[in-house]
Formats: sequence, C-alpha cells, structure tokens
Amino acid sequence: MSKAPEPSLEWEITTQCNYHCDYCCAKTRMIVTNRHGSDETIAAMFKLLNELPGQWSVKLIGGEPLIHPRFFEIVQHTIDAGHTLVITTNFSLPLKRIRQLAETAGDKLTVLTASLHLTEVKDVDEFIAKAAEFNRVKHPSTVFLVTSVCLEEKFGELKGIAEKLEAAGVRFAFQALKVDGKFVKYSNAEIEQGIVDKFVENTDKIRGADLYGTLCHTGELFFRVNVDGQVVRCYNSQPLYNLGNVTDGTFRRFTEAKPCLAARCTCTVPANRGMILYTQKANPVQMALAQGEGLVRRVQNKLASSEKQPLDPVES
Ligand code: SF4
Ligand code: SF4
Repeated sequence: MSKAPEPSLEWEITTQCNYHCDYCCAKTRMIVTNRHGSDETIAAMFKLLNELPGQWSVKLIGGEPLIHPRFFEIVQHTIDAGHTLVITTNFSLPLKRIRQLAETAGDKLTVLTASLHLTEVKDVDEFIAKAAEFNRVKHPSTVFLVTSVCLEEKFGELKGIAEKLEAAGVRFAFQALKVDGKFVKYSNAEIEQGIVDKFVENTDKIRGADLYGTLCHTGELFFRVNVDGQVVRCYNSQPLYNLGNVTDGTFRRFTEAKPCLAARCTCTVPANRGMILYTQKANPVQMALAQGEGLVRRVQNKLASSEKQPLDPVES
C-alpha cells in the first residue's frame, strides 16, 4: 500500500562544495555559478517556511550545505517555524561541526545522510570511525545513513565498506548511478542483483518505470528551491515544472495532485515521501488541463522574471 504523502521540500542553500566528484550533477554549473544562497533568498525562504501549513520536512542540500556561513541560522529558523530537517552532507567537515548540528537540531533532525565519495575521501577507515562516532552521539530518533553512488568499478570496495559500517551499527545504502538524468543499467548482472537490496528505499519502484500521466503530489506537497529561489516540481523537467521564484514572489504551489508529464522519473525523494500515486492515471481532460497550465505558467514566469537556470538534481 502507498504511504500517505509527507509534505517535504528541498532547498539548495549553496552550490559551493569542497569536493570535486567526477559524477557530480552540479559540476558544470558550479564552475559558473558557484555561490551561496543570498540574504534576500534566505529572507524569502524564512517567510515561506513561516507560512507553510503544518509541519514540513525541509531537506537542506548543496553543494555542501554545511559550508554555508548561515547554515546554523537556517537550521534554527526551520525548527522555530515548526518543521523538521533532513540533511545530506559529504561528511567532510570535522566531527565537532556535525555534532553541533545534532545538538542544535535534536530530534528535529529526522535524517542525516552522509554521502561517501570514494574519489575524494583520502582515509576510508577514518570516515567509518567518524560515522560510528556520529551514530553514537546523535539524537536516538535521528536516522543516520551512509550512501554511496554505485560505480561499477568500485562495487567490490563498497561492499567491503558497507560491511564495516554495518558492523559499527551504521546503515548503508547504494545510490543508483545516473548519467544525463537517467538511471544507468549496470553491465554486470551480479552487481545489478547485488545492489538492489541495498538501494535507497523505493528506487526499485521508479527505476525504469513509465509514470507519464500518473497523478503525483509533487508541486503541491513537494518542491525544490534552487540557490536563487527558483522553484521546480521535482527532479525531472517537464511542461508542468517551473513553479516560479520565492525570491521575487512569483512562486505558486499546486493545490492538488497533477499528472506527471516527464518522460522518466528519477525522483527517489518524492517516491519515499509518498508523492507518486502509482495506480492513478490522469484522464484525458486532466492531461489537457495540465499541459495548458504548464504553458500558462511558463509564459507568466517568463514575463515576471527573466528565466533563471533550473535546479539540477544536486546533492552532496
Ligand atoms: S517525474 Fe516522478 S516525481 Fe516528478 S512528477 Fe513525475 S512521477 Fe512525480
Ligand atoms: S557530488 Fe556532492 S560532494 Fe561531490 S562535488 Fe557534487 S556536491 Fe560536492
């Protein structure tokens, strides 16, 4: 049975990162737009967080979110506005700073995901020891997970690391590799089989699935805000995608589930948050209305502000 949608948003507070992973979705863009979210965008986001109805799960992403100079202020404001936090980090900063996060957020930090980037981490045993220590000091209700993009040539090494982490009481999950916004099919059948059990939850439901026309709550109960305040529906570009800009006041959420108009879905977070209504296909009228609304929103957004670069699927 599908889980009830859990209102969630992702906020890219910076595009800066202290790592330079080859497979980084943001790499090209970061070279030209490498910056932190501005004070103006932060003020607009604080207002939005105050106005959102009920409790939302706010995921802070980057780049590396912990290097934003106002990171702890953003954490505190999110909590004060009544929301919970999910944070994805490359786990490169000293344990002291990550522990400070656990102490500031307490049980409001629902999930901390540490992404292990083998090409950047010099001492894997040190990473494992730090993960074990964070697991010990975090709030008991905070879910702590180490993930790593499954590169075919690194599969054996990652399997060994996963075993060590699990022996230290730390959960591990693979992130399926995406190239040009598509999930990669691994050439080695043993790897395909071996990683499926350890995929980030619900990846199997969307990997290779055709969800075009399926009703989805993204845009209503889930959205992504980029470093400039531009908001998009999910991770996959489609006619009904751009929701306006928080910073210039043009952002508008949907009021109901709408059809997916994307050629493919790689949205693991919306899948995990119960946004996709897998068994509910839109009827032809809903499809036509969605296409029309996409067109109108596109024109309105263009008129209201010169269109800025859309949010890429970027995470630490
Ligand atoms: S791509 Fe996935 S998350 Fe986005 S609208 Fe389609 S089904 Fe929903
Ligand atoms: S993948 Fe993550 S850690 Fe690596 S360069 Fe990109 S943002 Fe930084």
